[in-house]
Amino acid sequence: MGEVRPIVHVGDPVLHHPCEPVTRFDGDLAALVEDMFASMYAAEGVGLAANQIGVALRVFVYDCSDADGQQHKGVLVNPELELPGIGERQLDADEEGCLSVPGQFAPLPRPDRATVHGFDAAGEPVTVEGTGLLARCLQHETDHLDGYLYIDRLPAKRRKQVLAAYEESTKADKAPL
Ligand SMILES: [Zn+2]
Repeated sequence: MGEVRPIVHVGDPVLHHPCEPVTRFDGDLAALVEDMFASMYAAEGVGLAANQIGVALRVFVYDCSDADGQQHKGVLVNPELELPGIGERQLDADEEGCLSVPGQFAPLPRPDRATVHGFDAAGEPVTVEGTGLLARCLQHETDHLDGYLYIDRLPAKRRKQVLAAYEESTKADKAPL
């Protein structure tokens, strides 16, 4: 069982720079993956990237449903995202949120199918194909590892609004001393 680690929030540099590829598939990586699952479940997320717990490595975990309601759970190390060609793309305009920008959601159109090629924690090649929320999750988590948050894909004005609402909510959490 992994250890629940605190989730890093927007503004922390580790979220805003590309993560390093994993080069060793060892016990440290296995332990990191366990901690990531524990942290994701504790935060009630459906996906989590390593830099969201402060580790700048290209790893994400997910436990997420697809367009048919099937649940998919796994880990992807050194993921490479593949999206349908521009002409074959259907966009899904659902709302998106992020554990690193807690409490906020905004509509963000993304392709409704995505494929990720990568490796599991033992270094075996894996390919994951996603539809529905899983397609969104695969894109969102790969973005994290490239140093981007979903709010970076919003129109500038909308991004500002989401950040302002988040800042306001963090103020409210502070004790009045
Ligand atoms: Zn996120």
